[in-house]
Amino acid sequence: MPSTAGPVRVRIAPSPTGDPHVGTAYIALFNYVFAKQQGGKFILRIEDTDQTRARADSEQMIFDALRWVGLTWDEGPDVGGPFAPYRQSERAQIYKDHAGILLGNGQAYRCFCTADRLAKVRIQQQAEKKNPGYDRHCRDLDPADGARRATEGEAHVVRMKAPLAGDIIVHDQLRGPVTINADQVDDQVLLKSDGLPTYHLANVVDDHLMQITHVIRAEEWISSTPKHVVLYQAFGWEPPQFFHMPLLRNSDQSKISKRKNPVSINYYRDIGILPHALLNFLGTMGWSFGHDREKFTLSEMIEVFSWDRMSLGGPVFGQDKLTHLNELYLHELTPEQLVDTVLAWRLNRDYLLKLAPLFQKRIKKLSDVMPVVDLFFCADLDYAHVLGDMKIPDVANKDVGKALLELIEKLEAREGFEPAILEEVARQWTTALTWKPKHAFMLLRLAVTGRTASPGLFETMSVLGKELTRRRLRSAAELIGKTPDKAPPAGT
Ligand code: GLU
Repeated sequence: MPSTAGPVRVRIAPSPTGDPHVGTAYIALFNYVFAKQQGGKFILRIEDTDQTRARADSEQMIFDALRWVGLTWDEGPDVGGPFAPYRQSERAQIYKDHAGILLGNGQAYRCFCTADRLAKVRIQQQAEKKNPGYDRHCRDLDPADGARRATEGEAHVVRMKAPLAGDIIVHDQLRGPVTINADQVDDQVLLKSDGLPTYHLANVVDDHLMQITHVIRAEEWISSTPKHVVLYQAFGWEPPQFFHMPLLRNSDQSKISKRKNPVSINYYRDIGILPHALLNFLGTMGWSFGHDREKFTLSEMIEVFSWDRMSLGGPVFGQDKLTHLNELYLHELTPEQLVDTVLAWRLNRDYLLKLAPLFQKRIKKLSDVMPVVDLFFCADLDYAHVLGDMKIPDVANKDVGKALLELIEKLEAREGFEPAILEEVARQWTTALTWKPKHAFMLLRLAVTGRTASPGLFETMSVLGKELTRRRLRSAAELIGKTPDKAPPAGT
């Protein structure tokens, strides 16, 4: 592996588009471990230039989740650093200037094609069974003409001039050199018509300016790397070393997805997985400690880490293995540590204060508290005794299941998880389905609490939290969806 001059600098560059993903923790772990082992720096950069997908609460959730697992960064939007700002939305001028450099040295051009023209080109390409991509219509426009039209305010994008022939070689440190023919690389848009950069331009410019030496990222970005290599050449910059980490997979080998596995780090926190168990588990994804050892600490991993222990076959994000590791860590705690761990998790004053208004009117003695609130301290529920009640009159079970899954999507599309928001989303959902609210809300109550009587439905969902609520709705949806309509209720 070629050596790099100067200190190791690595980064993760998440886009704040939703809940903090286990894949982000996975990539962060390997960046962190490598940085610590090499005495380098670990940087957190927020890639939020796609304003249509960015979510306000997501960035903070990424910070919180990474801190919870214990992967702290040396430089980042919230801690600053010598290459600030670390949030791409605050770096727009830098990208414009760099697009300007490439326009100036002839490695990029302004493209004035309208969306309408591009759509026609696409249809034509499909009809002729050609590779889709921009037909380079504006590539040979006179640059002075292009500059004049831009000054006159004509809408345009800036595209890179990808090579027309020859090979592009990507040196992936885990795979060796990968050769791609130039005809596979499009004249990628660098600057959009709103003046904001695409992922490719911003990512390359920032990795260069932030002096990133090793880009350790998920395999799904490997198809972008040839474009990045072209961009490094266009700027005359030395590219960093690339490591594309294998994708985490569901047990059926498909890419990990929330439909088959919970993917939010917060879910694992809420069900009581210990942060170091999660890190340990992620450390076994594609990497081996050696001697078949599966249980190891972060500092042990840092000590023995080497890239030649990576294997590229898709590691399976198996819940059983994670739970098993967690069990091992829980079992070795002293009683004091265990009590502290449980208190830090949910059995604490802050959480009980949220719960108190929900159970206060439902208890006559303190010994009634636990039976009322137990549903807040467990993950999955047993629906056997209520499955027969999980019905909507005159609606087939499979449609009830489908509707519940749709509700999950609607809840995900809405920022915030306060009772009023939940109620609004649920009422709109019920109205659209033309289900009576009393039937729909009973169904939700059964799914979320496993019982017919519970504290206020939306307050319960809110205090239970997004992760557990979604998980229960999904489990109930799947169970109802596969229950035959005429079957007697389970458990009878
Ligand atoms: N913004 C990309 C992401 O969301 C970064 C990919 C990369 O590391 O280059 O993962």
